[in-house]
Amino acid sequence: MSMDDREDMEPMKLTTLAFFGTSSCTPVEDNDTACFLINGHVLVDCGWAAGLTMLRRPEYDATMLSHVLLTHCHQDHYMGLASVLFYRAMQAARIEGDPRLTVAGPAEDIERIVDLTLDFIMAERLGERCPRPTILPLEPGDGLRAEELDITTVRTRHAVPSLAYRILDMDTGVEIGITGDTAYMPELARFFSGVDHLVTEASTGLNDPSPDNDAGHQSVLQAARLGKASDAENVSIVHTDLTRRDEFQAAAREICRAAYFPWSGDQHNLEDRSADPY
Ligand SMILES: [Zn+2]
Ligand SMILES: [Zn+2]
Repeated sequence: MSMDDREDMEPMKLTTLAFFGTSSCTPVEDNDTACFLINGHVLVDCGWAAGLTMLRRPEYDATMLSHVLLTHCHQDHYMGLASVLFYRAMQAARIEGDPRLTVAGPAEDIERIVDLTLDFIMAERLGERCPRPTILPLEPGDGLRAEELDITTVRTRHAVPSLAYRILDMDTGVEIGITGDTAYMPELARFFSGVDHLVTEASTGLNDPSPDNDAGHQSVLQAARLGKASDAENVSIVHTDLTRRDEFQAAAREICRAAYFPWSGDQHNLEDRSADPY
């Protein structure tokens, strides 16, 4: 291939996965709780302060969001929705096209959480700068489209109704799986089989929770086992005690060599699967 050919080529299409929050249920300095951004416009979970986290990273922009997907309605996953909606209201003049976000999540809780959030920020005083989002209640097994992303869902085992998401970028063929909070469910490996990047939780550290524990969380070792069984190319383990990151990563890699513990601000660029490498 000559340099001229190279210059004529379109830039390689990428699927981007940015980590805004990877801490356990309390944020640590410069790292929010669960919060991830795909292709710059789909936010999965909102941590405590997604709007603020995005402001601190000028390469991202909350006015570009099309969708927010909540895995479940625990506070460390939904509180940041208030900051996202308020920021967008403040920046309403910059939003092109339909200003309404779509907010999707477990059917049992999603409408209540969105309406409570709008009440909390007193959206009625913000008027048309803060339109009520389009709310999409999801039952396990439901699918949705977010522009180029085709998304499927499955129930996880957690203390409140919760969903895991498998997200296919139809422009690149790249697939991302996000478990949200869950007890160890070996059967999730089938749902996530062959994804390019699996994001899963390890809230209980190195200790496997007892099987009768109904909090619904995984250990580091269980997260690594799920990653290996899913045959995911990359396995990000999140929602854990990051002060023990090195120790956890060593233990996880004994089971799953792809295991990695990302930090807020990390971004993975996943290349177009159909691209010809030559
Ligand atoms: Zn959580
Ligand atoms: Zn939770």
